[in-house]
Amino acid sequence: MSDERPLSFDTLQIHAGTEPDPATGARQVPIYQTTAYVFKDADHAARLFNLEEIGYIYSRLTNPTVGALANRIVALEGGAGGFCCSSGHAAQIMALFPLMGPGLNIVASNKLYGGTVTQFTQTFKRFGWEAKLVDFDDPAAVEAAIDDNTRAVFCESLANPAGVPTDIPAIAAISDKAGVPLIVDNTSATPYLIKPIEMGATIVVHSTTKYLTGNGTVTGGCVVDSGNFDWMASDKFPSFSQPEPAYHGLTFGAALGPMAYTFHGIAIGLRDLGMTMNPQGAHYTLMGIETLSLRMQRHVENAQKVAEWLEADDRIESVSYAGLPSSPYHDRAKAISPKGPGALFTVGVKGGYEACVKLVNNLKLFSHVANLGDTRSLIIHSASTTHRQLNEEQQIAAGAAPNVVRISIGTEDPADIIADLDQALAAATA
Ligand SMILES: *Cc1c(COP(=O)(O)O)cnc(C)c1O
Repeated sequence: MSDERPLSFDTLQIHAGTEPDPATGARQVPIYQTTAYVFKDADHAARLFNLEEIGYIYSRLTNPTVGALANRIVALEGGAGGFCCSSGHAAQIMALFPLMGPGLNIVASNKLYGGTVTQFTQTFKRFGWEAKLVDFDDPAAVEAAIDDNTRAVFCESLANPAGVPTDIPAIAAISDKAGVPLIVDNTSATPYLIKPIEMGATIVVHSTTKYLTGNGTVTGGCVVDSGNFDWMASDKFPSFSQPEPAYHGLTFGAALGPMAYTFHGIAIGLRDLGMTMNPQGAHYTLMGIETLSLRMQRHVENAQKVAEWLEADDRIESVSYAGLPSSPYHDRAKAISPKGPGALFTVGVKGGYEACVKLVNNLKLFSHVANLGDTRSLIIHSASTTHRQLNEEQQIAAGAAPNVVRISIGTEDPADIIADLDQALAAATA
């Protein structure tokens, strides 16, 4: 492939990060179902362990199938490097691990996937990490929340559960000024709709479980680094700017430049935390990602049609979809996600909590699951499930009030999706 002419997204999603298998010529990426790799000799082994030569040592750290997937996602996001891990939640811990320590904090959006809110506000406490959740629609509040102990700013590109687009360039300007990296969870948008790195994000995390795989078969995660952050510019990030005691005193920032974050993530993060993706799982996601742009086009087209139909229906109180002109986020969505603001949104149903429960119980085509980004249309009543750990005030702030359901529009025929909603709404509001 030519180095001069950049390949388009549709081509990269099929070709990036892979080449025919050098041993067999296999066209599709083989599933390298192996734990370890034979060293050529003792010197080769030593060079690999010293990061003087790049190669495979042990599959907790790197594996060719998993590496191919990471490289493909890095290419689609426009990053410098990255690595896969066992789930989206693992990706979040892995992304923050080299930046954080006891007594340090992150400033995160209050609109996040419910599981992320719980991970950040409850489980992180055990590590001595703090997450300050603030309203990212208020840049002054984000700026005010950043203090001397802040080591990252964190948000979702299209925030769960309402599909609210975040003003990534504005937030990136604030984190830049404060000298801390911006981490964007790009799960709900995918790089087909939004490229956070182009808008100033430092690091992108994914739950590959969702649209990247696209068919609800495996859990996985990915961390992509832009390579743009100067870790040596302050004393805030000793994992990169100081000799790393966990890696025989190597100073990652000095030795590896823009690849410091990626190599630290693999050589220390995956080595010691062990949140590794398995090659079989990587294979499923590689298969899914080949059709990412085609699926996302259909997802957003369907979401727009269904949202418009719902908004015009008497039984509906509100529809959060940012693709609707009535949404307060409509203009921002056009700027941040011009191909369409995803396929995830919330619907307020007249009749409140009870009607929501009945709606969920009466849908036939929709699956009632705690998932999103499947080819199938999915629904969940967030307040009684994914966001039930939150109090009512937090639920409302997160867009998961008791009277709303979250829907993830699939790639089925939109007329069938609408017909299913129509019959279930009739039953729910009878
Ligand atoms: C699902 C999801 C996660 C968590 O990913 P898992 O693969 O389930 O661990 C994180 N962020 C967002 C936006 C998600 O949708």
